[in-house]
Amino acid sequence: MIDSPPGSPRLAATSNFIRAAIDEDLRLEKYIDRRWSGEPGTAERHRDALPDPAAIRTRFPPEPNGYLHVGHAKSICLNFGLARDYGGRCHLRFDDTNPEKEEQEYVDSIVDAVRWLGFEWRDEQEDNLYYASDYFDHFYRMAEWLVEAGHAYVDSQSADEMRETRGTLTEPGRDSPHRTRSAQENLRLLREMRDGRHAEGAHVLRAKIDMRSPNMNLRDPVLYRIRFATHHRTGDKWCVYPMYDYAHPIEDALENITHSICTLEFEDHRPLYDWLLERLADGGFFTRPLPQQIEFARLNLTYTVTSKRKLQQLVQLGLVDGWDDPRMPTIVGLRRRGYTPEAIQLFAERTGVSKANSWIDMSVLEQSLRDDLEGKASRAIAVLDPLKLVITNWPADRIEPCDAPVHPQRPELGRRSFPFGRELWIEREDFTEQPPKGFFRLFPGNRVRLRYGYVVECTGCEKDADGRVVAVHAAVFHDSKSGTPGSDAYKVKGNLHWVAAQAAVDAEVRLYDRLFGQPHPDAGGRDYREALNDGSKRVVRARLEPTLAGAPPEARYQFERHGYFVADRVDSKPGAPVFNRIVTLKDSWGGGR
Ligand code: ATP
Ligand code: MG
Repeated sequence: MIDSPPGSPRLAATSNFIRAAIDEDLRLEKYIDRRWSGEPGTAERHRDALPDPAAIRTRFPPEPNGYLHVGHAKSICLNFGLARDYGGRCHLRFDDTNPEKEEQEYVDSIVDAVRWLGFEWRDEQEDNLYYASDYFDHFYRMAEWLVEAGHAYVDSQSADEMRETRGTLTEPGRDSPHRTRSAQENLRLLREMRDGRHAEGAHVLRAKIDMRSPNMNLRDPVLYRIRFATHHRTGDKWCVYPMYDYAHPIEDALENITHSICTLEFEDHRPLYDWLLERLADGGFFTRPLPQQIEFARLNLTYTVTSKRKLQQLVQLGLVDGWDDPRMPTIVGLRRRGYTPEAIQLFAERTGVSKANSWIDMSVLEQSLRDDLEGKASRAIAVLDPLKLVITNWPADRIEPCDAPVHPQRPELGRRSFPFGRELWIEREDFTEQPPKGFFRLFPGNRVRLRYGYVVECTGCEKDADGRVVAVHAAVFHDSKSGTPGSDAYKVKGNLHWVAAQAAVDAEVRLYDRLFGQPHPDAGGRDYREALNDGSKRVVRARLEPTLAGAPPEARYQFERHGYFVADRVDSKPGAPVFNRIVTLKDSWGGGR
């Protein structure tokens, strides 16, 4: 549980079908006899070890072929959250069995992302960080056993022939002419494949299940293929690589995983997952109970895209400023935008787990951030579109300190101080010469309170040659200072924020908004680039209250009236702050639809 300050929302785990399944397994003491040698291995390795200290084991198994996004964050919170709540362990496993697309850069960024989200795979007893590529020997040894036991064969049909004999959803498949090869012949061919004696595509290893199964995944799925590719960790040691459906259940079983949670697309693969582990348990590689796969609906979020390919394209085409652009749904992007790990955990909890695919509105993510920061972000004043206000009856050399609470509901956080002077900055939109009905801010003849300061009455304005207002004039009521006796006697409807010109910090503020202007940017085969929101990034020079000058990177504030902002973790420097808008105070997108 995250230690949250008073006022911020608690994470209360709500029950769901995954928790119900785990509760039942624990009630039946299903895992009571499991043993754990301290590292992954087959039954032989765990047999004489102590009982597994983890009540359950889950895993987060990313393929290191890209940056993680908000959908992965959901899976991380789910898997690590379950392990935490049940006295279990969650493994971070790099599913790096595909040699072609994986890189160390992604491994490093995934490690950072999981840690930043607040989770840990290491404790005093265990370090559960694994690489599936460390299991290549196991995968291969089990493949030989499957061949020897008659559960797998080498097929030499071309890719086209295999596709053609596979059948369709309505038509059964046909057996390959190579399906009846002897175990001895299969073993010879498999070893030759491993030894690099055949070209890519010449042969594959297939499970011998049922070419007429109504489930296409059971029509003799491919287990191994030949690839002359250099792997980022094992180099050129291997030229045969296991398929995901073969490798994944074995990875889970080697690691003693109890609940292997994945997204709904894998539901039809579960019979293969179980088939393989049952066979391998018969072969003595694993002991029962075997890991069980449980599927849940993936997170689909509106106003964004989460396909790795599309995210990559956004970066490559320069449509965003990199993987950590604050508009990206990547975890590095969310972090740079100013999201807190707690807000993301809260979002994962609120969106729950479901068996049916659906869309979650972006406003749910944004609201989680507001709910998290409301209780803990210090308040500050920023004028984003500055217009000079001159207090004509205030001496140029007089400075008057004003003060305000750091947080209106948390007096223990203390007060902050800033000066009042003759020249101030106010928002340009807070002044008009011709007020529309109901406009309570500054216009000639009207009175407003300058928040935490004085009541002033507007006396006019100055314009440049183009007729643009360059300064507003007002007169102060010297006995109206907030918090002084009698100040309440002034009744005004407008209450404006301001900063004193002489003390203000001049800073770049990046006003971010949703990257896409449409809830479903890639709906109906449309090019999602056409749905980009032109107004997703606007940069302004703002004037900030002096206390913000030294804001450390990643410090978050509520700028009064404007929303939540963070000091940019890359570009912000003490004395020269740069702020990103995380989210406005209210939803302006009509959320929840
Ligand atoms: P790929 O197409 O490269 O497989 P992927 O998004 O599935 O992309 P993985 O690295 O395989 O990426 O994902 C790691 C884990 O994150 C998997 O267990 C997967 O189920 C989970 N995951 C990925 N996207 C989502 C999502 N949108 N919602 C929930 N879980 C997700
Ligand atoms: Mg995947």
